[in-house]
Amino acid sequence: MLWNDQIVERRDCINIEDRGYQFGDGIYEVIGVYDGKPLLLTEHMERLERSAREVQLTLPSSISNLKNRLEDLVSLNELEEGIIYMQVSRGAAPRWHEFPADDISPVTIAYTRPEERMTTIENQGATAILTEDIRWLRCDIKTLNLLPNVLAKQKAVEHQAIEAILHRGETVTEASASNVFIVKDGELYTHPANNFILNGITRKKVLQICKESALKLHEETYTVTDLLEADEVFITATKLDVIPILKVDEHTIGTGSPGKVTKKIVKAFRALYEQEV
Ligand SMILES: *Cc1c(COP(=O)(O)O)cnc(C)c1O
Repeated sequence: MLWNDQIVERRDCINIEDRGYQFGDGIYEVIGVYDGKPLLLTEHMERLERSAREVQLTLPSSISNLKNRLEDLVSLNELEEGIIYMQVSRGAAPRWHEFPADDISPVTIAYTRPEERMTTIENQGATAILTEDIRWLRCDIKTLNLLPNVLAKQKAVEHQAIEAILHRGETVTEASASNVFIVKDGELYTHPANNFILNGITRKKVLQICKESALKLHEETYTVTDLLEADEVFITATKLDVIPILKVDEHTIGTGSPGKVTKKIVKAFRALYEQEV
């Protein structure tokens, strides 16, 4: 694993006073690795930099150094298919809520985990549940504070669903760890990238695909009713890529099988990734 700027063997080097551990005071990224290569690493590092800025955390090293270290880690671990998990906490210091003194440095860790691609589920589709979005008002920052997301995902799993789609009142925001798109009359809708959602890198790629394929996409809010009455629904996230959602709670979406537009996006996303490798 990567621990600060060193690649080490140990996995149990957490300081009990690490602010990531005690307050969730830190940020993270999950990067997909396909055929031994991290996908869209620059985009992930740029988002990490943005998250750091938004929580007033100074990254301990440059983006290009971090990229090199992560690439080293992938090759040392001989990872072919899987993810890199990386987090930066505000550091370890006696537990007081306010930021520690300037001489405390952030703690960076990263490790890899083998994971299969979700090809079967991508082809066949999955089900989701709906649950109220109880998160704070800065969901645009990829922070370690994930308790509401954990609770939502647990509820999904208890209902044999792949994801929990979140709504604030009538407005659908995103899902516990993925972004949500709906298709109605051949046009796509997804929540705008503001403080209510995490702007996924997969989401951004789908926007680009829509532009290139002349698919009409609206970055607009839509309601729970719009979702349930949509012709197609899909979710996007790193390593999940693009997953068709065929059922939400008890409601069948569209025909109950993966729709035309979703299939097109799945195919285009794969092609995009194959080009990158
Ligand atoms: C990370 C994350 C996503 C998906 O982002 P990707 O960059 O596509 O992996 C969506 N929603 C939330 C809440 C997330 O934390």
